[in-house]
Amino acid sequence: MRPELARTIAACRESLDAPRRRGDRIALVPTMGYLHEGHLSLVDRARGLADRLVLSIFVNPTQFDAESDLEAYPRDLDRDLDLAGGRGVDLVFAPSVQEMYPEPPLTSVTMRGITEGFEGAARPGHFEGVLTVVTKLFHVVEPDVAVFGWKDAQQAAAVRRLIADLDFPVELEVAPTVREPDGLAASSRNVRLSPDHRERALAIPRTLERVRELFRFGERDGTRLEAAMRRSLEDAPGVEPEYAAVVDRDRFVRVDTVESPCVAAVAARVGPVRLIDNALLDPRGEPSGD
Ligand code: AMP
Repeated sequence: MRPELARTIAACRESLDAPRRRGDRIALVPTMGYLHEGHLSLVDRARGLADRLVLSIFVNPTQFDAESDLEAYPRDLDRDLDLAGGRGVDLVFAPSVQEMYPEPPLTSVTMRGITEGFEGAARPGHFEGVLTVVTKLFHVVEPDVAVFGWKDAQQAAAVRRLIADLDFPVELEVAPTVREPDGLAASSRNVRLSPDHRERALAIPRTLERVRELFRFGERDGTRLEAAMRRSLEDAPGVEPEYAAVVDRDRFVRVDTVESPCVAAVAARVGPVRLIDNALLDPRGEPSGD
């Protein structure tokens, strides 16, 4: 069944009013749409945690640092509604830019530390855009639980801290990365890869597989793990690595030695597309959840 569609903040709040008063638990899965199995796996996770599933679809202009990337971002609301309905989403909140930002906002959410390196350094203003829109979505939907993906590990770390610092009464769930059969992490941007670029992009999951393997064999030295990642990416034709780093999963700063849960994070350009991916390295168990 197709989910209900709310295009305005008022309609979204109204739709959730009765379920909330009944005591239903509400889950929110925030997305930018053009849904794929990664997004839908977050919905599957949410289903076991709440009575009412809300999926937001908003290509948030303030988190794009490049106009060209914003314009090229794929969109197809009709298709998304079918896919969301097929996985039991009750309500899709898909506001316009005008609805979310009737005026250029003078208020925004910024964070030090976690957001400064990696994606934050490569994409100025990105996390300010993300944290501001997540704050707005939390205020509109008032979810009991929100589900994000490990695919965007730095974002997950930042949202965890946002919830803690600003006392949002929201539980955070972070779900494993869903991969396509060839190993590439599912991403809305993958449709912009030509078959040739896509083949080249497989160097990214191969690199992460390599780092997982080294980790499994006991390598814990951050510099050595990073060097292996960099070598593997530099050897791949048509792949322009931006960073390859081993960082603490929660603080997102480089570590000398992997002693706590860490993330091996990669960003690289392949043709017209910038891709990010990561592997979770947990010294207390097998690497998992990625
Ligand atoms: P996006 O639409 O790219 O902003 O992603 C929306 C949510 O889906 C974020 O929490 C992402 O981390 C998550 N996500 C994106 N790709 C994947 C994937 N391949 N596997 C699992 N979650 C994903």
